[in-house]
Amino acid sequence: MPIVAAGDPVLRTGTTRYEDQLDPVLLARFVEALRVTMHAAPGVGLAAPQVGVELRIAVIEDPAPVPEEVRLARGRVPQPFRVLVNPEYEPVGSARAAFFEGCLSVPGYQAVVARHAEVRLTGSDEHGRPLDEVFTGWPARIVQHETDHLDGLLYLDRAEPRSLSANQAVLDRWTQPTADLAARALGFELP
Ligand code: ZN
Repeated sequence: MPIVAAGDPVLRTGTTRYEDQLDPVLLARFVEALRVTMHAAPGVGLAAPQVGVELRIAVIEDPAPVPEEVRLARGRVPQPFRVLVNPEYEPVGSARAAFFEGCLSVPGYQAVVARHAEVRLTGSDEHGRPLDEVFTGWPARIVQHETDHLDGLLYLDRAEPRSLSANQAVLDRWTQPTADLAARALGFELP
């Protein structure tokens, strides 16, 4: 499916709770289409509004092909494929983590976002089974990013404006495991 880019109101209006608006066969096809689209992008998460659908559904999956030092600093561990239906998150503790992130709906750029280091995610899966799970590290970042999409928020709303970097600049300069160097050089605060 084509991915909607920032500027389209569908990314800003929020979503309707999923209450079996799709019959099971159609839901399964939609979830599969989200999965294929996420893989093709490629990305580690995709929310229904990003393909123009105003339902509270998202998918996540991260094989986390990163060097050991990055895995340790960012908590970027593999996250198996999951379907999030009607997800909501709340912080667990007060710790925050700030790293560069990007969005398939905002191509070409990345920015540093300080997010809860640990969140409790509630909702259900695609079969209606309850979901109540604590996420930490990079998976916590992914579920916050995707759930925010379902509330009409983009990562830029929470980003350090001075950290905004073109993808090429990130590749050239900001691939360190942490955002410390970028914070000093670009002039923004880390939590
Ligand atoms: Zn996004």
